[in-house]
Amino acid sequence: MDLEGKIAIVTGAGSGIGRATALLFAQHGAKVIAADITGKQDETAAENPAAITAVKADAGSEADVQMLVAKALELHGSLQVFYANAGISGGMEGIFDQSVEEWERILRINLIGPFLAIKHGGKAMADGGKGGSIICTASVAGLRSGAGGPAYTASKAGVINLVRIGAQQLTGSSVRCNAICPGLIETGMTEFIYNKARERGFEDKIGQLNPLQRGGIPNEIAEAALFLASDRSSYVNGHALVVDGGLSASHPYARQKFGQTAS
Ligand code: NAD
Repeated sequence: MDLEGKIAIVTGAGSGIGRATALLFAQHGAKVIAADITGKQDETAAENPAAITAVKADAGSEADVQMLVAKALELHGSLQVFYANAGISGGMEGIFDQSVEEWERILRINLIGPFLAIKHGGKAMADGGKGGSIICTASVAGLRSGAGGPAYTASKAGVINLVRIGAQQLTGSSVRCNAICPGLIETGMTEFIYNKARERGFEDKIGQLNPLQRGGIPNEIAEAALFLASDRSSYVNGHALVVDGGLSASHPYARQKFGQTAS
């Protein structure tokens, strides 16, 4: 029960990584505000109604993020964890085809959303005087190019540096601020990739670029979020934790069989 007595907000909690994390946090003793824009947060909360409260909210709206923080304080009296996870991919159009409006839409949710979590969640935690943990979902797409569209890639790179400035700005508050960089995870966002591969009988090719040679599941990211949310990561701050099966650990290369020596 790593999160016993802690109050957590999770955005994007209606599906994928956010849903798995809300359920795992609740399983580990937290009271959770599960937020999503779709209404699917109700299904997540229905799995553990004693611990999870569903709230409809737009993670990129300042008024909604303020409302989420106020809800946590109203229902539970304090806030210790804010997982700013909601995000959209925005498709794979190239840089010459994306509009300014599309960039604004993607950056608003993927980057301004985490900024608002730090601004309002971090403030509430700092005011509470007992520290806390802010976690933002970045991506391997934020480390280098090739894992998403241009605006998505830029937004996720922004999140990685945002948690560094967030940690610095929260100096003295004992509020930590970290990011998670997932690799390929089977969720609503990547459903089309998995569906297409399954339709063509190529499911076993998914994840072959990483050393574990498989895609990840939402719970593998939720476990990383649990670590960052809990006091077990009490000295981890301003960090981007990569959870990608080793995908980003190497440059593209011609694969050798295990044990084979280069000639
Ligand atoms: P998902 O589509 O299954 O879940 C995302 C959830 O966010 C959905 O329930 C959606 O309704 C919600 N959402 C979207 N916009 C919102 C908004 N404005 N306000 C509130 N909720 C909103 O996808 P996922 O993969 O679980 O995505 C979670 C995060 O993980 C995203 O930030 C995504 O960029 C990131 N990520 C995913 C992968 C992957 O391979 N799936 C890899 C790296 C990073």
